[in-house]
Formats: sequence, structure tokens, C-alpha cells
Amino acid sequence: MTPEELKALVRTVPGFPQPGIQFRDITPLLAHAKGLAGSITALADLARGVEAQAVAGIEARGFIFGTALALELGLGFVPLRKPGKLPVATISEDYALEYGTARLELDPTLIERGERVLLVDDLLATGGTATAGMRLLRRAGAIVEHALFLIDLPDLPGRAALADEGVAAHAVMA
Ligand code: IMP
Repeated sequence: MTPEELKALVRTVPGFPQPGIQFRDITPLLAHAKGLAGSITALADLARGVEAQAVAGIEARGFIFGTALALELGLGFVPLRKPGKLPVATISEDYALEYGTARLELDPTLIERGERVLLVDDLLATGGTATAGMRLLRRAGAIVEHALFLIDLPDLPGRAALADEGVAAHAVMA
């Protein structure tokens, strides 16, 4: 599927979760067999040429794309989780969202020092979530230089925020 065909499967819902937000809802794309397969193929195409030993995904939609991408690339998957979900000692990062605040947690023993990790999430907006994920991975010893997204909202500063941290953002659609 072309990026335009994939984009047509993303639903824009005005006013969710707050007035003024145009929420990009990827669930119609997930439910569409060719859309789901096409989105993973497109992410894998973006990852080609990027050296990586693992994929890390951000809960929850980053788990869907990240796990499928990891399988496609023949790599393992590391979850960056919402608070209180992991049964072991974690490291955490608090961050500001486009709406509200949040925290991500990581079991640092899942990362090997010097391992190159590809960060994956569904959507890049302000970059706060991906930056928190990158910080966690780097604190655990990973090298994080590339982040993959299905959607980049180009009017928001996520790409520039990640570039400031030495992370190149790649997205299937804008
Ligand atoms: P950021 O931290 O501002 O870059 O926001 C990105 C994070 O918020 C990602 O984890 C997304 O899943 C989520 N997010 C923000 N806006 C949307 C949206 O319009 N649709 C789906 N997810 C969104």
C-alpha cells in the first residue's frame, strides 16, 4: 500500500481527548488486513540501512507496531511501559504530553550496554514521549540514534526536539 492509501485508513476525530485536539485514530488501519501489513512493511522499509540490535516500543500503540517490526527485522522487542506494570526494579522518566503529563518505565536489564536500539511509536507530536523513551534507553546503556513512527504531525516540534537530542525521526506519513 502507498503512504496515501495508509493515510486514508487513519481516522481524524475532532475534540478527543480534549476540545481543540484533532486525534489521529489508527484503529481502522489496524483492523484492515492490507493496512496493517502495509504499515509494517513501510516501517521496515524506513528501518532498512539503520543498524539496530533491538526494537523498543512505547505502550500501548508502540507495542503493536514495534513488535511486528521487530519480527520483520528479526530482532527482539523491549517494552517501554506505563507506570506500575513491570514486576521488577525499573528506571523511569516523567514527561509532558500534548495533553497532560505521564511517565514511562523500563527494566534496564533488558538492554545490553552499547546495544543499538530502534525506538518505535505510532505517532510523533511534541516529541515528549519519544524523548522520554530515548532517555530511558540511554540511561540503560543503549545507543539510540533513530526513531520510527507511523505518523509525524509536522506542525508540532517532535522531529526538531528529537534532532536536538541526536535522534533522527523517520515517519511513514505526515
Ligand atoms: P508527543 O509526546 O506529544 O510526541 O505525543 C505522542 C504520544 O502521544 C504518542 O505515544 C501517541 O500515541 C500519543 N498521541 C498524541 N497525539 C495523538 C493522536 O492524535 N493520535 C494518537 N496518538 C496520539
